[in-house]
Amino acid sequence: MKIFNTLTMRKEEFVPIEPGKVRMYVCGPTVYNLIHIGNARPMIVFDTVRRYLTHKGYEVNYVSNFTDVDDKIIKAANEEGVSSDVISKRYIEECKKDMAGMNVLPATKHPLATEEIDGMIDMIGTLIKKDHAYKKNGTVYFRTRSFPGYGKLSGKNLDDLRSGFRDLKVSGEEEKEDPLDFVLWKPKKEGEPSWESPWSDGRPGWHIECSVMSKKYLGEQIDIHAGGEDLVFPHHENEIAQSECCSGKTFANYWMHNAFLNIDNKKMSKSLGNFFTVRDIAAKYDLQVLRLFMLSAHYRSPLNFSEELMEAAANSLQRIRRAAERLKDLEAAAGTAELLPEEAAKAEEIRGFISRFDEKMDDDANTADAISVVFDLVKYANVEVTEASSKALVTLAAQTLHELCDILGIIELPKQEVLDSDIEALIEERQAARKAKNFRRADEIRDMLKGMGIELMDTKEGVKWTRK
Ligand code: AMP
Ligand code: ZN
Repeated sequence: MKIFNTLTMRKEEFVPIEPGKVRMYVCGPTVYNLIHIGNARPMIVFDTVRRYLTHKGYEVNYVSNFTDVDDKIIKAANEEGVSSDVISKRYIEECKKDMAGMNVLPATKHPLATEEIDGMIDMIGTLIKKDHAYKKNGTVYFRTRSFPGYGKLSGKNLDDLRSGFRDLKVSGEEEKEDPLDFVLWKPKKEGEPSWESPWSDGRPGWHIECSVMSKKYLGEQIDIHAGGEDLVFPHHENEIAQSECCSGKTFANYWMHNAFLNIDNKKMSKSLGNFFTVRDIAAKYDLQVLRLFMLSAHYRSPLNFSEELMEAAANSLQRIRRAAERLKDLEAAAGTAELLPEEAAKAEEIRGFISRFDEKMDDDANTADAISVVFDLVKYANVEVTEASSKALVTLAAQTLHELCDILGIIELPKQEVLDSDIEALIEERQAARKAKNFRRADEIRDMLKGMGIELMDTKEGVKWTRK
């Protein structure tokens, strides 16, 4: 497989450090709110890369963190009058629900920054010992100029960066030796969560978290480090500086970055207020539609969110599901079990779709073209696999379609039938939750039902429901 490596700005053949194994780290979200669909892009894209590597026979150790200590979390906690961990725990749970809806597999490990403070204190200590970091008034800074490789990922030149900073006075950070130095540890302010350290009671900087969690769960050297393109600088540049100064070894061999999900050609972000949460989308669509929409563009191309594209993705998903259902029916009704001699060429052709799909994915995870191959298979099966086909041929077509859809993370079969009595029991529970003003639980149940393909309608006669 070839991967476009941000470090070299070229597509390179993927060669893992350890044959047959992949160590992959993906920077996860900061949990102070429901995730928006921009945040969902790296989750979906890199989950698909992971699934593809697994399909190629690799054992993938996939680590993705939750940043659960941060200014925005503290702000949200203060606004609600609760502690930070109430906010972060709540949104980690909500994020996991969204991930499940989008068919994003749970990581091998989802470390939490707040559970890894000891490792951060250790790494900061090592960096100080090696003269790559220094302490000023309880704050520890990384000495950027002590790392000759600084700027190698983002292609930034230190002198240019420094002159850009010259007139910029960041309040409270004039104590830095160099404007490019960044925080590894900062003392607490009133009302903030804090941990004891040799330098001050305080908390870690954001960048050190990922260096430490990656090292702990994947080792000093990893194969793939990934995230959105806004993380290239400074976050990933700083991670490289910390990790490589600490270990003296190359931190990550391949750096993958997804482009932005835009809306009206502007980055979708919380700060611009131009976002949809995954939950907003779930109220209208099956989240696999969102997944297919995301994968219909190459991950390094910007993608503009629009209703039209979502509708197109919904239709595409339906076409795949219909083809799969048709094959299932044909399989049940097939007369001959064994492959007929005249079907050999068709069987060969169907098997060929896997290598055609792989060829596209081998080219830097070109999911857009890989999806076209799935549609070619759908078209082929719709025409060439019929009532006259043997069961063996129908099964082969069905399994091939499943295999490819599984790599993309789209399940083409309708969800399991749910019993009417189960639905009614859930609706009753939702009504009770609403009465008790437990709106979170009520919404949760509505979303759960939605996931089962059940639509609720509040009418004068009470709640009515339909299957979609
Ligand atoms: P954050 O919670 O802001 O740290 O973001 C979590 C992940 O989502 C990071 O990998 C970001 O690069 C990514 N991300 C945030 N906004 C977008 C967007 N509009 N499009 C694509 N990726 C995004
Ligand atoms: Zn990170």
